[in-house]
Amino acid sequence: MSDYRNAEDRLLTLAEAIAAALDSIQPIREVETAPLLDACGRVLAAAVPARLDVPPHDNSAMDGFALYLADLHPDEPTRLPVVGQALAGHPYRGAIPRGAAARITTGAMTPDGPDAVIMQEQCRIAPDESWIEIGPKVTARLKLGENIRRRGEDVQAGSVLLPHDLRLRPQDVALAAGQGIAALEVLRRPRVAVASTGDELCEPGVELPPGAIYETNRYVLIGLLRRLGCAVTDLGILRDDRDVVLPALRTAAASHDVLLTSGGVSVGTADLVRDAIAELGRIEFWRLAVKPGKPVTFGRIQECLVLGLPGNPVSVMVSFLLFARPLLLKLMGTEPAEPSRLRVAADFAFQRKPGRREWLRARLRLDPERGPLASIYHTHSSGALSSLSWADGLVELPEDRAGVAPGEAVDYLPFSGLGVE
Ligand code: AMP
Ligand code: MG
Repeated sequence: MSDYRNAEDRLLTLAEAIAAALDSIQPIREVETAPLLDACGRVLAAAVPARLDVPPHDNSAMDGFALYLADLHPDEPTRLPVVGQALAGHPYRGAIPRGAAARITTGAMTPDGPDAVIMQEQCRIAPDESWIEIGPKVTARLKLGENIRRRGEDVQAGSVLLPHDLRLRPQDVALAAGQGIAALEVLRRPRVAVASTGDELCEPGVELPPGAIYETNRYVLIGLLRRLGCAVTDLGILRDDRDVVLPALRTAAASHDVLLTSGGVSVGTADLVRDAIAELGRIEFWRLAVKPGKPVTFGRIQECLVLGLPGNPVSVMVSFLLFARPLLLKLMGTEPAEPSRLRVAADFAFQRKPGRREWLRARLRLDPERGPLASIYHTHSSGALSSLSWADGLVELPEDRAGVAPGEAVDYLPFSGLGVE
């Protein structure tokens, strides 16, 4: 228990901890085929090239008439016979002769010949649609190619449609569908086992014994992991008993990529999890210069990454979002991007001792005069789960920052930028 990286009592900064942990993580390589409707949230195993031009043919952006611009008189109305129609899905076969127009609907392939589409609202149309008339004012504004969407203007065949490490969003999947691709090659989901530890914990749904509390951490962690796209195994609540914790961790580590625990990593007498990790594998580091979440422990049991999060519910969610999430993203094969940070004004005062990076549960609102303002929850206890339910993001105070006075600039991290909507 003394060979971990920061044994000499120095807390690692979050940046040091993430860099060290990322360094030791190899992304998953196994590839699976995901039908399009199951592909959202998965990470692409390889870049997807475009095999088709989109649109595949020139087509109309409007309901109107396809015509030759040069047929229109600049200073008097032009009457053109309508010689045919091109409807979406029903192309006009053949060419439109000079001096004539064709009815065309949005998305219909433009017939051979015409070089512009005029909106139907801009023409006089014969009651039987046998001709249209275009006035000189409209003619003056019409440009070559007007209202025609060109073949390949959206996507060109041969270009990179989707890059290799993309975590697929609905619009990316739709782009693949637009190429006629029915399934995508994606990386296997990380297998993550989740356990809560503590003799005081009790499952929701049963009556609370004296001295017990209902367990909440697995509900946060499993929800966040599923959103991220992990395959989760729920190990339930483990009693504070070495004979329970040790075999549970050993078994789970053998069949998972990641073991995520909460509780049992601080310095209390029943902090068995850290000891168990050290006994079954090794601890790379524990204790970060962060608040909440200081006792975070990172290690390995054989190939399985072990993230021992603290027990307090706020510490659990914050350390998951700021520490565990980037590691899981790397494991999933995608870029563990920095959370988005907005510079906003503080609508609160806060005093503290510098040294640790700290996150306060915050809400953002737009003040008509003062711009975006962050306010914070009334209590900062790391046990107050209500603060997270109230908040829509976190205010981040860097290690060296002392207090915050009202009106000063602070960094605000919206939950949406951390994968929590
Ligand atoms: P620990 O890190 O195990 O000492 O736990 C710190 C605090 O978090 C204690 O007050 C625990 O009761 C509480 N706690 C630990 N695990 C959970 C959990 N799964 N759900 C709710 N509270 C927890
Ligand atoms: Mg405990």
